[in-house]
Amino acid sequence: MYTEIICIGTELLRGYVDTNSAYISKELADIGIEVNLISNLEDKERILEEFFKKALKRSQIIIITGGLGPTFDDLTRDIMAKVMNLKLVFNKEIMHNIAAHFAKRNLKMPQENEKQAYIIEGAKIIPNLTGTAPGMIIQLKEKDFKSIVIMLPGPPSEMQPMMKKHILPFLKAKYEHKIRKAIIFHTYGLTESVVAEKIRNLVQMEKKLGKLNFGLQAYTSLVDIEISAQGEDEILIDEILLKVKSEIYQCLKDNIYGEKQETLESVAGQLLNKQKLTLAVAESCSGGLIAHKVTDIAGSSVYFKQGVIAYSNEVKINLLGVKEEVLNKFGSVSKEVALSMAQGIKRLAQTDIGLATTGIAGPGGGSLIKPIGLVYVSLASNSREICEEYRFVGKREKIKEQVKNAALNLLRKELMLNRN
Ligand code: ATP
Ligand code: MG
Repeated sequence: MYTEIICIGTELLRGYVDTNSAYISKELADIGIEVNLISNLEDKERILEEFFKKALKRSQIIIITGGLGPTFDDLTRDIMAKVMNLKLVFNKEIMHNIAAHFAKRNLKMPQENEKQAYIIEGAKIIPNLTGTAPGMIIQLKEKDFKSIVIMLPGPPSEMQPMMKKHILPFLKAKYEHKIRKAIIFHTYGLTESVVAEKIRNLVQMEKKLGKLNFGLQAYTSLVDIEISAQGEDEILIDEILLKVKSEIYQCLKDNIYGEKQETLESVAGQLLNKQKLTLAVAESCSGGLIAHKVTDIAGSSVYFKQGVIAYSNEVKINLLGVKEEVLNKFGSVSKEVALSMAQGIKRLAQTDIGLATTGIAGPGGGSLIKPIGLVYVSLASNSREICEEYRFVGKREKIKEQVKNAALNLLRKELMLNRN
């Protein structure tokens, strides 16, 4: 089944963000309908006409938003009628509702709004409770169209309730024999292309079965993998996903830090909780971002004791006990200082683990030996001390984000060792 969404409006091609397609595709995915194509089109007669013709040839489900309004640039209804070779018919009841919409607001109805009372012949009317333009579902077997065409108004405040109340139940009833299930894996430490490379054989093998869809989404130093399976037999889908899951873990091992809603901080928090360990952080270049994320997790007060933003050398010396000689000899961005900061915060807060960061977030302050993006992340536990060196790239905020992720991942990996 081929499904497409067409969002119409010149503004969508001039920087205005198309949120309608994101909303609709997510809602459709939840009822097992995967969207294959999303397009944004200009309000231009020729463009719409050509595109609608192609869409009617290739798609079983076409959902269109926008251009149902009363003004001269609202062309969707007229062009679709023309392409389908159907008439527009005046609907008294709709006219009455539109007039009532204006009367209720004590406004005179502009002549132009009459246009909205014309609907494509044979269409099922979808009432619009928050605006004037009704939606339409056109499903015409006798006309030899294999597509179901659904037209909705552009404003999200009108489109969304219509989708929820009418369109989704309609599509669900029609395609409810289809079941879609998805698993999301979160990875750290691999680029998107490396993830793709590592799971390539799996993708090729499973694609042959024709049951699976793979999607990759890259964020700052994190890559998500979504694997979905669709079909009629729920037991078979569960079996396939279980098999894929074990293979994904074999391919990516501990680069996978979580599934579904899990985050680095939630996973590290769960591990700290289970192991009854406490944490404190001393942050230089991450500027409090780690403490902020750790405390985003409800219940983190059980394991998180203290966070210090040790930005200046004085604080590193006076509060964390970093030796002045060490700072002078190696510089504040160094392995030695990072380790000393981690030990210092562990001692100060009397925790089981101390985590520390120091680095050059830019845009200034870099040198040939210590370039922008050079970062040390260090961890001191009751049994050992470790420090990792990173060379991040990007703007200041991106570097801070990467430092935070690296630190939380280092913490997670350390806690995983205790588990084994
Ligand atoms: P109206 O009666 O408001 O003219 P319409 O169906 O003709 O309804 P449009 O004219 O295409 O809809 O869009 C009206 C407004 O709705 C736009 O100015 C924009 O603010 C919003 N809108 C339209 N399409 C989208 C979209 N794809 N994503 C988010 N907002 C949208
Ligand atoms: Mg409009």
